[in-house]
Amino acid sequence: MTTEQMARRLHEVPLAPAPLERLVELLPAEQSQRFRAIIGKAQELLDDRVVWNVNSTASGGGVAEMLQALIAYALGAEVDTRWLVIHGDPPFFALTKRLHNFLHGSPGDGGPLGPEEHSLYSAVLEDHHSDVQQRVRPGDVVLLHDPQTAGLVDVLREAGAVVIWRCHIGADQSTEHTEQAWDFLRRYVENADALVFTRAQYAPDWVAPERLQVIAPSIDPFSLKNCELDPVEVDRILRTVGLAPNGREEEPVTFPGRDGSSRTVRRHSGLTDGASEPPPADAPLVVQVSRWDRLKDMAGVMTAFTDHVAETHAQAHLLLVGPDVSGVADDPEGAEVLAECVAQWAQLPDDVRRRVHLVRVPMDDLDENAIIVNAIQRRAAVVVQKSFAEGFGLTVTEAMWKGRAVVAGAVGGIPDQIDSGVHGILVDPRDLQACGEAVCGLLADPDRARSLGDAARDRVRSQFLGDRHLSQYIKLFGQLGG
Ligand code: UDP
Repeated sequence: MTTEQMARRLHEVPLAPAPLERLVELLPAEQSQRFRAIIGKAQELLDDRVVWNVNSTASGGGVAEMLQALIAYALGAEVDTRWLVIHGDPPFFALTKRLHNFLHGSPGDGGPLGPEEHSLYSAVLEDHHSDVQQRVRPGDVVLLHDPQTAGLVDVLREAGAVVIWRCHIGADQSTEHTEQAWDFLRRYVENADALVFTRAQYAPDWVAPERLQVIAPSIDPFSLKNCELDPVEVDRILRTVGLAPNGREEEPVTFPGRDGSSRTVRRHSGLTDGASEPPPADAPLVVQVSRWDRLKDMAGVMTAFTDHVAETHAQAHLLLVGPDVSGVADDPEGAEVLAECVAQWAQLPDDVRRRVHLVRVPMDDLDENAIIVNAIQRRAAVVVQKSFAEGFGLTVTEAMWKGRAVVAGAVGGIPDQIDSGVHGILVDPRDLQACGEAVCGLLADPDRARSLGDAARDRVRSQFLGDRHLSQYIKLFGQLGG
């Protein structure tokens, strides 16, 4: 083995079990009984077999976050579940990023997906073959996540494993780019025992119906992003980071980090590019949290607020919240979109400008980032997600779980989560007036906002937590003779 191949051994991510009971306790009686019964079946079905998950990163991004939570619960249910991460090099990741963008229907770097790319892709995955063969035994179940791992399907099938490939990306309509990406991936994934997509529409048409499974993502109610915070804690976090008016100097806010250590929310100033004064403590907040990506249309949310909300609701403030991308070289589009928003903000009349806040949440500490986002979402009177496209829209799920009233674009996975008028309000994302009016309606009627928020939380409890997600996996393993 060459040194380079040695470097491509799989990395195993160590995880501690999470008590399944704490999840079960959140569920209504019937749902928890159902879940317990399914867990019992899983223990029987999987017995001495291992369930492997393979992806390309141990932290950062929705897939890693979801794996962390689900694997910990599976371990808590005494199902031997492991997590392996493949190693690639920059050309490999440039190629898989291209596939990622294409599958979203976006041109990305516009690069080719020809024979050279196949050789590059296959070579990296072939370097993992011997390690895979040493670890995985016949009868084990392997979940391969996203395009980065697709090239392991055949070697794992040869090793006698049940192989499931899951694609967390997708676009509503097929385009030249989605077609190209699927042409590239087809030969790697078509022998998998099952192919899993977030929505049926995301599957290419050559996937045989009996191999196609639809499994939506879920959130973990105990993660730092979603855990309960009472209004006093929310206020203290927001004051510490300069997003609520500062009272007296107070004790630092501490919280348990993912590694179990005690962590502190750092004092920040200057997280806002916009207004220098934070919103008053009693101002109703309209909030959108997302990456600085054109498809999330932060700029359109600003216009919807300034043109259709600000005058009617003179106390309301808008927070556009995204990661701190300033100076981050690997997200040039993010920095550009943020800069455009700042320029748009600078043109606003004084009285509206002081009520629009562009918030950059630091990314150097993901635990702190998560708890700040949690506090902001909880403080919102209305959460907006006016995206033009959305694979699933975890920010919507997160806001719904927090009982927030949501106004969101009727695109991608969002209508799977929200029945308009029941769990939130859906709008055409190109209709800024409709978006503004929906926000105004909720600001004017807090009782309605509360009842939509309550229904939203119930909807997440029944559909988008780990019990539903794990149950679907277990059912699938059973079907595959797993
Ligand atoms: N997010 C975050 N900090 C930010 C902006 C976003 O932690 O400053 C998180 C957000 O809470 C959500 C995820 O990034 O968990 C975004 O997932 P989503 O499915 O909404 O959209 P994507 O970014 O995958 O298109």
